[in-house]
Amino acid sequence: MTMAVPNINDVYACLQCGYCRTVCPVYRETGWESLTPRGKVYWLKQLSSKGLLDRILRRKIEITDEWMQKMFTCTLCCRCESLCQVDIEFHEFWEEARKWLVENDYGPPQAAKDMYKNIENKEFKNPFMEPLSKRDEWYRDDYKLPSQAEVVFFPGCMTSFYEYQVLLSMMKVLTKTGVDFTTLGTDEMCCGAINAMTGQFDNFKQIAKHNVDQIEKRKASTVVTGCPGCLRALKKYKKYVGKLNFEVVHTTELIARLINEGKLEFSKEFKKKNLPLVYHDPCELGRISELEGRGIFDEPRTILNSVPGVDSILEYNNNRMDSVCCGGGGGLKAVDYDLTTKITARKVDEAIELGAKTIISSCPNCKAQISVGVEAKKEELKAKGEKFKMKVMDIADVVAKSL
Ligand code: SF4
Ligand code: SF4
Repeated sequence: MTMAVPNINDVYACLQCGYCRTVCPVYRETGWESLTPRGKVYWLKQLSSKGLLDRILRRKIEITDEWMQKMFTCTLCCRCESLCQVDIEFHEFWEEARKWLVENDYGPPQAAKDMYKNIENKEFKNPFMEPLSKRDEWYRDDYKLPSQAEVVFFPGCMTSFYEYQVLLSMMKVLTKTGVDFTTLGTDEMCCGAINAMTGQFDNFKQIAKHNVDQIEKRKASTVVTGCPGCLRALKKYKKYVGKLNFEVVHTTELIARLINEGKLEFSKEFKKKNLPLVYHDPCELGRISELEGRGIFDEPRTILNSVPGVDSILEYNNNRMDSVCCGGGGGLKAVDYDLTTKITARKVDEAIELGAKTIISSCPNCKAQISVGVEAKKEELKAKGEKFKMKVMDIADVVAKSL
């Protein structure tokens, strides 16, 4: 294998270790050792350990559907990496492993292939088969955006098609603070994060080229996105298209900058009935970004602490680098939807135990996933004759409501 594998001594150490399994959300819900990081390393090791006898007997290592299912049963949260006893760099390794499988025709799962077909289809340009015209329908009549601007706001597919409240919140923040911005409108193509996650890098290159061309046409020096998946994907573009002539930042970085520069003034208090709030660190914004260079942990907390009426923020027992995935990462939904909802249920239960009335995140995927968990909890308690209320908000919603 030519992938960026850990060296063989690390692999042997891993096979005798197992230390990180208790932090793996997949293991926590399934109890299957084969789905832990060590289990997956074992399966990959089997691939590379074809011995002399195997060669003499012309045995092939068989990659079955079950094998593939195991490799893709992972949220790519990389909590295993932050605890790994031999420092295996899982944020690269899992991606490289999936890439290798795809290059050798062992994947990706059908659902991921279908998603790419939808992205390259000019009528959609998104993985969900939503009509292209829907991408800007929430704002095209209310905002007359310029053809060129300093900042391009790149909402991403989840925000554009489903979590459009987050999109409208961010448009309000940008407008009220006088930022010279535009969007790619219907020229925006899915960022390709799903391709990178499922090892489809040939396709990722095409997407990168398309979006970079569109951003450069707008002459922007900054691209801002509220989606940590888009953030990481856009930052990866430089590896595929060469130098980027713009910086890529997350909305929390931009909002924190605007607060520091005195350009963002709050005028309304956060509703008391929705307090206290708890902040969930999205894996891709926090831990994985930290493993790749700089994690965004402080900006969201700085922003929330600046909002009038918010006098304290509850913290999950495992937060920042140790944050537990909401269940919505890694394309796991396409492989095992029920498992993702079990992972989310824990996140909701812990918020209840902490006494929170609102769960805040800075990722539209986390918002959507946690909302599913909250609805499931409502149904569960309704069946017992109990009422349950929990708000789920993106940080951009909080800021926009307080302006
Ligand atoms: S901590 Fe690292 S070495 Fe140990 S089982 Fe987990 S991945 Fe393998
Ligand atoms: S990335 Fe997350 S889900 Fe995947 S093996 Fe590591 S801890 Fe488990």
